[in-house]
Formats: sequence, C-alpha cells, structure tokens
Amino acid sequence: MHEWALAEAVIKTAMNAAEKEEIKKITNITVQLGELQQINEEIFQYALDELVDLYKDHFFKVKIKIEIERTQLQCNNCEHTWMFDSMKDSLSEDESEAIHFIPEVAFVHTRCPKCKSPDFKVKKGRGVSLASIKGVKE
Ligand SMILES: [Zn+2]
Repeated sequence: MHEWALAEAVIKTAMNAAEKEEIKKITNITVQLGELQQINEEIFQYALDELVDLYKDHFFKVKIKIEIERTQLQCNNCEHTWMFDSMKDSLSEDESEAIHFIPEVAFVHTRCPKCKSPDFKVKKGRGVSLASIKGVKE
C-alpha cells in the first residue's frame, strides 16, 4: 500500500504548488523517484492516475513523467561524494539485480573510492519527490 501513500503525497504537493503559483489546472507533473526506493512502479503509476481522476478539477489532460534519481553516496570520513553508477560495472549481474530489490546488499562491498572508508551515507537516490509542475492559469 505504500505506493498509494507516496502517490498521494506527490499529488497533494502538486496541488499545493499549483495553488501557490495560481495555476488553475495542472497539465504536467514530473516526479523524481530514487532508484533505491523500493516501489512497484506499475502500482505507483496506477495510483497517480487514480488520484488525478479523483481530484480532476485540478488537472487537465495531465502528463506524468517519472524520472529516476541516480544514487549518490557521501563518505562520512572524508566527505567525498560519488555516484553509485560508477561502481555498478564492478558488480556481477546477480548483484546488480539484487540492488533493485534489496539496496542494502549493494553496499556491503562498497568503500569510499578516495579514502577506502566503509562508512558512508546515501545522499541521493532514496525517496520520491515532486520535481516540477506545469499548468494553465485560467
Ligand atoms: Zn572517504
């Protein structure tokens, strides 16, 4: 069910943003979806469509674009940041596959490329957020 909660958060944020910008009908929504966010994209998309229908006064032939946000990591020791993509090549196919379902697996062998510390945090690539909206003012 958390796809529905996330979709609802996105739609409500979009409607609030529209109100602030004095947009009467939203026509485009861009959503950023972190690649580590464990979500069923099909259900998420379906939930967005259903919610748009539910709040249809706020939308007009809306196009929803989902962008995948790539994972960025930051070392807690030297503060170096790097994209997780650059490390994927060194993983086996099975490991790459596992990342999508259990992100934590991916990080077991991960070290900071600069100082080799295993102590780092995920800076980008988690969560769902509203990137932008477009719409008409009358
Ligand atoms: Zn480091």
